[in-house]
Amino acid sequence: MATRPSEITIIGGGVVGLSVALGLLQARRRVTVLDGSDGDFRASQGNFGLVWLQGKGADFAPYADWTRDAVAAWPGFAAMLEELSGTGLALDQSGGFEVFTDRAELEDFSAALERQQAHLGNRFSHEIVAADDLRRMHPGIGPGVVGATFCALDGHVNPLRLLRALRSAVSALGGRILSGAQVSDIAAATGGGFDLSLRDGRRLGAERVVLCAGLGTTPLATQLGFVTRVRPQRGELLITERLADRLPFLSSTIRQVDEGGVQIGGTKADVGPDDSETLGMMATLARHAVTVFPALADVRVVRAWGALRVMSPDGYPVYARSPRHPGAYLVTCHSGVTLAPLHATALAEWIDETSNAPDLEAFDENRFALSDAA
Ligand SMILES: Cc1cc2nc3c(=O)[nH]c(=O)nc-3n(C[C@H](O)[C@H](O)[C@H](O)COP(=O)(O)OP(=O)(O)OC[C@H]3O[C@@H](n4cnc5c(N)ncnc54)[C@H](O)[C@@H]3O)c2cc1C
Repeated sequence: MATRPSEITIIGGGVVGLSVALGLLQARRRVTVLDGSDGDFRASQGNFGLVWLQGKGADFAPYADWTRDAVAAWPGFAAMLEELSGTGLALDQSGGFEVFTDRAELEDFSAALERQQAHLGNRFSHEIVAADDLRRMHPGIGPGVVGATFCALDGHVNPLRLLRALRSAVSALGGRILSGAQVSDIAAATGGGFDLSLRDGRRLGAERVVLCAGLGTTPLATQLGFVTRVRPQRGELLITERLADRLPFLSSTIRQVDEGGVQIGGTKADVGPDDSETLGMMATLARHAVTVFPALADVRVVRAWGALRVMSPDGYPVYARSPRHPGAYLVTCHSGVTLAPLHATALAEWIDETSNAPDLEAFDENRFALSDAA
């Protein structure tokens, strides 16, 4: 027997689903979030916490713009979320480096930043920093570093506190979060709305549904006629013991978390649904960290883990409305930490179809249908 339908049901309670939920609650919608089980892959619990613009959208202008807007919105978003949840997010946006130990990679990335600059004009600036200048700025940088790029808009946040804060804020605004609520089937209901079947046998009704189920998205998306198929990409990370001294820089692969440990990361491997960590990658990460900042050789690694990124076919966000089932939406992206402020505002307005909602056509999934046909 289906219970009374919620106005909007969000499937997936990771950083993406909760950000959207927050925005819809602020627009005074009645929102339920159905979140799966602890055994699910959860990128929101294993990520690197960067709020990062460098390199984003170099080959896709709408994504460059979207990320630029998200990064600019972070300070206000963090203040609002901290106020609502009472949880500090440790946001620090005082600039970040991409550090290179390979000259060809530095040149490729510099060219990508030029393309990003062409899209963003005066809304973006970056510097290419010669190795000697970098070592003058930060004397601890190792001799194996060949140069770096810098963007003053880049930063990081504590991703676990972000998740906790989103959960608290959604609850504080009256949102219902059901944990252990694994949706197995969605069907259009006679007379409008949707019937949701949960794996434990429960049935729930919803007027509208937003699929934000990370790597659990594809089977549900298929049932609603969406063509997007997400795939996992494994990233491995290390964290060291807490250090009393602050690391003098933030980079996309080495960052000191607010509690003091140094997180080292960002490998990429297409290995299917396997989030285990591997000795080979741990060694690669440790070697990279010590090459960049040799003093880290004396620091103990206390934990290593793998986590799976949620990747659309082209790696860019997908924001789609179901053509077959009005009232069903699909939301998936990589960089859900960076994009959280826009998911809680502009994207929520788009889902709510308000008069000032942005045009998100560039992120529709029809780009896959078109490229499949080509
Ligand atoms: C190694 C790594 C490093 C990263 N670094 C960064 C970074 O520095 N900066 C950044 O911005 N982003 C980063 N990301 C990306 C970021 O973590 C993700 O974009 C974001 O966490 C995705 O959130 P999500 O809510 O879509 O997915 P998830 O966190 O995976 O959440 C999906 C949720 O859906 C639930 N679910 C699944 N199936 C069902 C179902 N059938 N019914 C109900 N619920 C279901 C799951 O239980 C889960 O809670 C990184 C990711 C990884 C893996």
